[in-house]
Amino acid sequence: MVRLNLISLIHAEVGQQETITLDLSTLKIDDLHLAYLRGDLQLTRVADGVLAAGNLETSVKTECTRCLETFFEPVALELEDVIDLPGADVTVERPVRMSKDGWADFSPLIREYAWLGLLINPICSPDCRGLCPQCGGNLNRGECACEAVEPIDPRWETLRSLLDERA
Ligand SMILES: [Zn+2]
Ligand SMILES: [Zn+2]
Repeated sequence: MVRLNLISLIHAEVGQQETITLDLSTLKIDDLHLAYLRGDLQLTRVADGVLAAGNLETSVKTECTRCLETFFEPVALELEDVIDLPGADVTVERPVRMSKDGWADFSPLIREYAWLGLLINPICSPDCRGLCPQCGGNLNRGECACEAVEPIDPRWETLRSLLDERA
């Protein structure tokens, strides 16, 4: 849950602004695990709600596509959404609505932005060595038990024969 209270903006004039600084750690939103969520959210009263905008930083738990280990991937969220006033209908485009006492749960927005921000093929590190194609062992944890087979590249064979001819 990322619950923020916007009560002071419900009865404010259009254009009034407020900034909320987020600094949360270890969040769980359904299937999404975040190590932290931080940054400033600029809140502006607009005609039909409160516009929440800001650049937030988070770190999302995901799986390395090379070695299949889970790790946390840093993701930048560029939030810009209208939070509905109490009583408004919740829609797909506007999934967050304030309660009568001003509370709004930003979780659906954070979740959506975090998934969008995740890379399609995340890797735990640029140096990730992945899995051994023979035994499936994680090569980042050291050598696996497979025997190191030196594959002979056919191009080297051609080069070698050329060198032999010149000799
Ligand atoms: Zn990896
Ligand atoms: Zn192996």
